[in-house]
Amino acid sequence: MTERRQIQIATPSLGEEEWQALREPIETGWLTQGPKVAAFENAFAARHEVKHAVAATSATTGLHLALAALGIGPGDEVIVPAFTWVATANVVLYCGATPVFADVDRVTYNIDPKDVARRLTPKTKAVIPVHLFGLCADMAALRKVLRPDIKIIEDAACAAGASWEGRPAGALGDLGVFSFHPRKSITTGEGGMVTTNDDGLADRVRKLRNHGASVSEEERHHGPRPYLLPEFELLGFNYRMTDLQGAVGLVQLKKLDTFIDERADLAARYRKELAGVRWLRMPEEPPKGRHAWQAFVTYVNPNAAPRSRNEIMEFLQQQGISTRPGTHAVHMLKYYRQRFGLKPDDFPGARDCDRNTMAIPLHNRMSDDDLSYIVQALSRL
Ligand SMILES: *Cc1c(COP(=O)(O)O)cnc(C)c1O
Repeated sequence: MTERRQIQIATPSLGEEEWQALREPIETGWLTQGPKVAAFENAFAARHEVKHAVAATSATTGLHLALAALGIGPGDEVIVPAFTWVATANVVLYCGATPVFADVDRVTYNIDPKDVARRLTPKTKAVIPVHLFGLCADMAALRKVLRPDIKIIEDAACAAGASWEGRPAGALGDLGVFSFHPRKSITTGEGGMVTTNDDGLADRVRKLRNHGASVSEEERHHGPRPYLLPEFELLGFNYRMTDLQGAVGLVQLKKLDTFIDERADLAARYRKELAGVRWLRMPEEPPKGRHAWQAFVTYVNPNAAPRSRNEIMEFLQQQGISTRPGTHAVHMLKYYRQRFGLKPDDFPGARDCDRNTMAIPLHNRMSDDDLSYIVQALSRL
């Protein structure tokens, strides 16, 4: 056994280039949404093969913008998976609409289209499938169970650079939303991006993120008419990304595919070297597509594991290996339990994923030795 280590579950990968990219906005004094954000948006749209990419302050605010742009409000129902980050459901409540949970598949961790079909009502206006941990939800199966008037917003917070049947995440639904939180594939500290091919939706998202204003800041500051103040046709928000973040995002985006390839190599090694650990199920890979490997989330089989999931996580912590549950079952969180009277057994797939998933370290600062050390620790159990 090699010496004791300290291996993080995830860590962002930034360096000299990001540092240098901050110079220009700082020297010019253009700090909020401006030329760097615009360049980041254009590059992001090109990489994800969509007409429009609109930056926001986070994926949470991006999802809020997407729902607001679709005009979703009180009386409307939006279907969300029960196993996801809480924000996917919270944004529905921000609009005064009702989140309706659907169960997830225990193997892919993603929304189960068959369960979505059971939750549809005449009030269903949209579905938010989540591409959890970088694996795209089964979009064809989902589309098949939905009426044509129901909109799809991809929660692609974990899925920058992922693809499904040859098309990138963010180009698979009516709108897509990405996150640049440090825990995600590329980062701007905090940040998000809304993608769409629909000109009208893109226009509404752009206005809504800037107080509902219909004249851009660029036009106001550089246009020929100094008397121009914006008109406000919509109740908007201030969800503008800073140009400091845009500058960093532009550099990070250039590294996206290298980051994913590096993580895919580590993931392949995990799959191969942990194959003998029979009580630990490896995450699913897409049959036709690319996993973005935002996280490597295993499933501890409770009927076969030598100890409980939590004891295994404690054991690994003692070896200096950070782990986390994959994410949470939102229907089991106190606010949702109390407000909607939900029970853990209402969504058994999400309940089991909540109790049995375990993310093990995967990031671009991990060495081959780190991975060997983790494999050894798990094999020793
Ligand atoms: C991280 C995450 C979010 C929220 O992203 P922020 O940028 O932190 O707001 C939403 N949905 C999912 C699935 C996520 O993993």
